[in-house]
Amino acid sequence: MIQYHEAQKLIEEHTKTLQPVKLPLMESLGCALAENIFTKTPIPIFDSSAVDGYGVKVSDIRNASKENPVVMKLVGEIKAGDSSKLKLSRGECVRILTGAPVPLSIEAVVMKEFTNQNGDKIIFKTSTKHGDNVRYKGEEFKKGDKAIATNTFISPAVVGLLATFGIRKVKVFQKPKVAVLVTGNELVQIDKKIKPGQIYDSNFYTLSSALKEMDIDAINLGIAKDDKNDLLKKISVGLESADILLVSGGISVGEYDYVQDIFDELRVKKIFWRIAMKPGKPTYFGVKGKKLVFGLPGNPVASLLVFSRLVEPAIQKVMGKLEHKPIILFARLEHDLKKRSKRLEFVRAKLNTTENGELTVSATKGQDSHMLGGMVEANCLIYFPMEMELLNKGTKVKVELIH
Ligand code: AMP
Ligand code: MG
Repeated sequence: MIQYHEAQKLIEEHTKTLQPVKLPLMESLGCALAENIFTKTPIPIFDSSAVDGYGVKVSDIRNASKENPVVMKLVGEIKAGDSSKLKLSRGECVRILTGAPVPLSIEAVVMKEFTNQNGDKIIFKTSTKHGDNVRYKGEEFKKGDKAIATNTFISPAVVGLLATFGIRKVKVFQKPKVAVLVTGNELVQIDKKIKPGQIYDSNFYTLSSALKEMDIDAINLGIAKDDKNDLLKKISVGLESADILLVSGGISVGEYDYVQDIFDELRVKKIFWRIAMKPGKPTYFGVKGKKLVFGLPGNPVASLLVFSRLVEPAIQKVMGKLEHKPIILFARLEHDLKKRSKRLEFVRAKLNTTENGELTVSATKGQDSHMLGGMVEANCLIYFPMEMELLNKGTKVKVELIH
């Protein structure tokens, strides 16, 4: 049995990023960039107005105020999308709308809200400073700036920024193909009737949903019986068709837990089996060439929790997202917490905030690893350190946010 942090390290060491591909911008969401993005133009691309208002020379309305308004002559209008080389003379102003270019001779834009109009006269009730309400060319990015670094995860904001730069195709790391096999004689698909002794499979649904959240469609290898031939057939298909294979169940020490035998038979190289964590002890990790193979515990909570702790970071690395930084907080325990295992425990829990903004945390009901209900309420996990047996009410504990 190895420690949790050793398991993390071993997985990380054996996980390689896939080759980049060039994708149309709209297909890149959720991937990681495989190139640095340099700007080809300054951004903003020209000086423009941040508001609807009037372009002026600052000195013309230097003394303007509510009590002492200054009247100026309206000489034109610049709308968004126009291009203009207008030159203002003394005492003149121009209507200028949000996003419209601001010609050089205009020093500031006064918001419409601080003016009144009377025919072609505009009454200014405020003074202004040079540059007020003007968005300057290149103020965010200069031409040639490294605007987005390689390995950045492509969020909607990144897609938008790439579009701002006029980029239609982008080099990204490929997403892996991930196959999911669930195993167990007792399992039945939800579209069938269950007989005595049987249960509905939930792990395929949980795991493929967790993958869906990463925008990966799982390859469904179905349900394998606790039977060597069936396992051999289905695990072989998984190894051929996917970059990452997830097998749930059959990896513990039971008489019919054949999954590891089949991995051996198919020359999967075992990196570790069993981690000092709870839930998740029977977890297996192996490699075949560049392919990653995870044997996940059958218990539904353990299976999902091991996915989020260990499989998800590996998938992210394969996809070129190098940093996996969970959000860690410290919160005060609302009650005593006990454990008997000598393993690191991840307690499903709920974070609350007191009236004075302090974070508190309490374990959800149903902590056994077959009780998925305890995960429904949970919004975080408490790290219950391996060497501790008791955490007293009021102790500040380490908590990780989960979604
Ligand atoms: P195993 O890891 O195969 O020993 O299974 C441990 C427990 O998890 C048993 O109670 C199984 O019935 C249950 N289990 C295994 N696979 C699934 C699954 N896909 N969906 C729901 N429960 C499962
Ligand atoms: Mg089983």
